[in-house]
Amino acid sequence: MKKRFPAWVLALSLLAGCLSGCARQPVSRTFFAMDTVMTIQAWGRGAGDAVTQAIDCINTLEQELSVTRPDSQIAQANAAGGGTLSGDALDLVSQALELCEYTGGALDITLGSVMELWGFRSGDYIVPEAEILASALAQTGWEKVQLSEDALTLPEGLKLDLGAVAKGYAAQKAADLLAQAGIDRAILTLGGNVQTLGTKADGSDWTVAVTDPEDPSAACAALSVSGTKAIVTSGGYQRYFEQDGVTYHHILDPETGCPAQGGLVSVTIVAEDGLLADALSTALFVMGLEGAVSFCLEHREFEAFLIAEDGSCCYTPGLVGRVETELEQAVMGS
Ligand code: AMP
Ligand code: MG
Repeated sequence: MKKRFPAWVLALSLLAGCLSGCARQPVSRTFFAMDTVMTIQAWGRGAGDAVTQAIDCINTLEQELSVTRPDSQIAQANAAGGGTLSGDALDLVSQALELCEYTGGALDITLGSVMELWGFRSGDYIVPEAEILASALAQTGWEKVQLSEDALTLPEGLKLDLGAVAKGYAAQKAADLLAQAGIDRAILTLGGNVQTLGTKADGSDWTVAVTDPEDPSAACAALSVSGTKAIVTSGGYQRYFEQDGVTYHHILDPETGCPAQGGLVSVTIVAEDGLLADALSTALFVMGLEGAVSFCLEHREFEAFLIAEDGSCCYTPGLVGRVETELEQAVMGS
């Protein structure tokens, strides 16, 4: 029988592990940004100021990147069919376009108008009519975006949506900022995006819970990670609506414009970089079970933990000995 770890047990064990392994109690701040409850914990001298700077950094990034804030660089570019990008908006769009290519288009940051049609922007959810969806989809495609130096050109009707990558980028930036401020131990939880910095004082690994897709208030697995890492989960259970008894979630297949249905319910990526992990968690979800496994076996610069629709999980060889779960499990490639 499947054993569930209530989220509070994992939260407490993480905290207890830290308290026993860390010299002092962390500075811990919980706040709301990017539509998500976020918590940053940092240990050591200057942690209070450093955490304040990290929160400011995330808030500033939200102002620059959000598609729903009319004054953000991205919203303005969407409204004007492009424009001049600067700073983080330029950096993120340019890196994200490379990641669209790297994932064979499974990640596609041009699905803004399709997300709007499904009501995922406004919250007024509706299954779009096939013809309307088809014409919106025809205007999408990351290859149609032109970025030359800082000049962005978007074809008519194409709207950027950085929802798949913005939090990972922000988490990495915030973690970098903490490191630059001299913090050598911290953990940032931005919804499904976790970022660890340094090691615990006793040298033991961080433990990160994987949410149970069937009961998001509980965890179905725990991953141990060492050192500075990004651990990012994408899952259909994170945002969805139901219509006529069918569940529609927010991760779209760029080929159909509909929620991806590749047999996965959750994808967790462990990588060195927050943006990479965030991009891949979304992209592998879109690729589906088979596609994701082949992608993982071809690209070894990250680890992946996948939960399939049948409730079983599989993971990359690099996670062997680092997974605690009662789910039926398999190691990819063996
Ligand atoms: P994540 O939670 O990181 O998997 O990102 C999901 C969000 O990314 C959605 O809410 C959309 O804003 C956006 N999105 C959905 N499907 C895709 C896709 N195939 N490629 C890029 N972004 C997507
Ligand atoms: Mg993502």
